[in-house]
Amino acid sequence: MASHVLVTGGAGYIGAHACKVLKAAGFVPVTFDNISTGWEEAVKFGPLFKGDLMNRADIDAVLVQYKPVAVMHFAALSLVGESMKHPGLYWRVNVNGALNLLEATVAAGIRNFVFSSTCATYGDQDGVLLNEDTPQRPINSYGGSKLAIEEMVRNFSAAYDLRHVIFRYFNVAGADPEAEVGEQHTPETHLIPLMLDAVAGKRPALTVFGTDYPTRDGTCVRDYVHVMDLVDAHVLGLKWLLEGKDSRVFCLGTGNGFSVTEVIDASRAVTNRDVPMTYGDRRPGDAVTLVSGSEAAIRDLGWEPKRSTLRDMIGDAWRWAQAEPFKA
Ligand code: UDP
Repeated sequence: MASHVLVTGGAGYIGAHACKVLKAAGFVPVTFDNISTGWEEAVKFGPLFKGDLMNRADIDAVLVQYKPVAVMHFAALSLVGESMKHPGLYWRVNVNGALNLLEATVAAGIRNFVFSSTCATYGDQDGVLLNEDTPQRPINSYGGSKLAIEEMVRNFSAAYDLRHVIFRYFNVAGADPEAEVGEQHTPETHLIPLMLDAVAGKRPALTVFGTDYPTRDGTCVRDYVHVMDLVDAHVLGLKWLLEGKDSRVFCLGTGNGFSVTEVIDASRAVTNRDVPMTYGDRRPGDAVTLVSGSEAAIRDLGWEPKRSTLRDMIGDAWRWAQAEPFKA
């Protein structure tokens, strides 16, 4: 019988793509989601259990019902700008939700935990390439809450029979090339979908946040990784744990940094259309440059990023942008 994997946030952008590849790898992905920022329609690859991480009884119920071999924890609030305006919300939802989940996981005797962390835990590091050993000094509440959860996961692994893989994501972009699932947020705040909305005339213009950063063209530099490559790494991380290997942290980025201006230029090449845009102030909480300098996932997990070029990420996002949107 196929093993079940609990996927918190399976109705969200990354979680839904993870469910697709988990199913393809022979697992049954069980989505646990409160549908606050996700979409019921995105749950296509396994059962949906509607519940809330703030409610321990919901988590216990899904674990009793499906007896998963592992938990993949994606569910979180994840917007840097919002986290600067509402720190309490980020600390409460992200940290309390993860704490309830970890306690329920251990109580249910589940031994494998995969956690979505972020390069936002590093903060601003003056252009250094970031790897698993780089000290973490978050500059926004989103990154702070994720770092706190990393510590919690490590503490639980030390105390109980639990092993973990923590992935620190760089900037996740693109969509399922088959367009079964894709990126959709309300409100949308991410660069590539906002840019493509402006290209398609669904918004008047993209605002570039800050043009006076100390980078080659004055705009922020990020390391973009294709969502399909990212979720492939999660299946490898899951198998790593199921093979009994030790707890690890892996950065998931490509080592290539692109400025906002370079992303816009790449979009012109992919869509053959202009990007209506304006220039605005810096967005509070944004680091100047976030680029991964790690090859650990490639070396140790056997990860092979296949679609993480700007061309493929923007091309797949553009195809998804033409598809029917999910309905609430
Ligand atoms: N960005 C921008 N205009 C927007 C949205 C984002 O210039 O409307 C910039 C943002 O300042 C950052 C980069 O694009 O430098 C990526 O932002 P996004 O919100 O996509 O991801 P984040 O880095 O916050 O996870």
